[in-house]
Amino acid sequence: MFSLIRLKDLTMKLHCNKCNKVLTKDLYPVKKLNEYTETSEEIDEEGFPDWTNNVVELFAGTYLATKKYTRVFDYVSEEGFTWIGHRLQFYKEPATFCVSIADTLDVPKFKEGWGCCDYHDTDLVCSCGSIVGTMNYDCWIDFKRTDFYQTKTHFENS
Ligand SMILES: [Zn+2]
Repeated sequence: MFSLIRLKDLTMKLHCNKCNKVLTKDLYPVKKLNEYTETSEEIDEEGFPDWTNNVVELFAGTYLATKKYTRVFDYVSEEGFTWIGHRLQFYKEPATFCVSIADTLDVPKFKEGWGCCDYHDTDLVCSCGSIVGTMNYDCWIDFKRTDFYQTKTHFENS
């Protein structure tokens, strides 16, 4: 019982930097994501599992702070045995507060054309017009989350 009260004291809500609107439910930090691999029990003809699936979980009521980093894509396109192109791309990923969709307040109603059946990599805009994060809720994303930008939001004990 006592530990429950202490936990409550640590919880905070994310606010918009521009208008101070509350953007999430109460959250407490986690250091690391719960990550594991699911492996099929079916074996293919070469003796390997049919499929493996990387499962990432961030429990409701928690957030993960991520540092900014650069994602590198190295595309090579081939046609048959002919090498036809090479493209190296760098994506700068901002520092975020990663929050489950279940803890995100005011999730906009899905508009067609922005993903397969829900938003994917789509701006989350505060009612004041500030872009506060990115929504990743689509059906194929097993970890449905909002990536709030650390430069656009802050925590307040409220
Ligand atoms: Zn705002």
